[in-house]
Amino acid sequence: GKGIAVFTSGGDSQGMNAAVRAVVRMGIYLGCKVYFIREGYQGMVDGGEHIIEANWSSVSSIIHKGGTIIGSARCQDFRERQGRLKAAKNLVDKGITNLVVIGGDGSLTGADLFRQEWSSLLEELVKNKEITPEQKEKYRILQIAGLVGSIDNDFCGTDMTIGTDSALHRIIEAIDAIVSTAYSHQRTFIMEVMGRHCGYLALVAALTGEADFVFIPEWPADSNWKDVLCKKLMQERTAGQRLNIIIVAEGAIDRNGEPITAEMIKKVVVDNLHQDTRITVLGHVQRGGRPSAFDRILGSRMGAEAVMALMEADEKTEPCVISLDGNQAVRVPLMQCVKQTKAVAQAMADKQWEKAVQLRGKS
Ligand code: ATP
Repeated sequence: GKGIAVFTSGGDSQGMNAAVRAVVRMGIYLGCKVYFIREGYQGMVDGGEHIIEANWSSVSSIIHKGGTIIGSARCQDFRERQGRLKAAKNLVDKGITNLVVIGGDGSLTGADLFRQEWSSLLEELVKNKEITPEQKEKYRILQIAGLVGSIDNDFCGTDMTIGTDSALHRIIEAIDAIVSTAYSHQRTFIMEVMGRHCGYLALVAALTGEADFVFIPEWPADSNWKDVLCKKLMQERTAGQRLNIIIVAEGAIDRNGEPITAEMIKKVVVDNLHQDTRITVLGHVQRGGRPSAFDRILGSRMGAEAVMALMEADEKTEPCVISLDGNQAVRVPLMQCVKQTKAVAQAMADKQWEKAVQLRGKS
């Protein structure tokens, strides 16, 4: 059978294990040899015990675990051709010509580059006598399918990335907990949530947690935001509300592109309204804990579809990302998604926020 390897790369997210499990089991079901690569690209470059064959039971009891059991890493070596050459040699040694990469846009970009270079890497390996010409011929095509694991939901081309829903659960649990204590003491809480370029978590958390105010990168605050904020908080208190909740995304900014931080917001509330105000930074709690049912199903469906895509691919097939479109698992050209995701980041950097939202929405 064909050799498939699955690995997780970049930041971890809940639901990655479900995806790994589905890749392994669908691969075995279809008669493939399936390998784990531990610690992302680093394991691919280092080889040896980092690339191990998986069996049906090696993915038992992992679907309910957060993070990624096969480890994830950032890898400088893989950014250099020399590192990718080592990686290619390790894959050929095991007969692996199909990769399922689970990660963010960086990881997917690296995979695409690797595939483009594949034949020249094999040529160099033959020249160095590290592989035989027969091996080069036999393993000449590298197929790639990507799955997007990220809690931020910051990737173009898919409705939801694996991990976002679980992160929202974590945030909502935290807001609910804070609301009860805030109520008792008539306090105002400012909660910082993840999302450097993408305010999805902050926005949805604000809507579902009944926050009074939210700051997100895509909707930079107007120059009079302090007045607007104070007026709104006052209104709510006058109407009898005993507490206020403000959600701020990590990447929140004003119209000049200057950061708006929880500390700044706190100062405004304390100086103007003299409310008892506290800050809660959720941090990595959002990335941890059990995956939600949604993320388990998402990871499972995406993983199974990735293996199907690899099995159906021929020499002309471009690498794809498995995306959620409505309620369907679909295959989208990998580079199209990466390009669009980068275009969004560029528009944000250029302070063209409406363009960024449009670009993200179109995908
Ligand atoms: P996150 O969303 O958590 O940041 P990511 O996949 O975007 O996930 P990166 O750190 O950008 O995270 O990339 C993960 C790894 O992918 C890098 O450490 C590197 O090994 C590899 N990689 C990223 N970009 C490239 C590239 N242009 N060329 C080769 N390899 C790359």
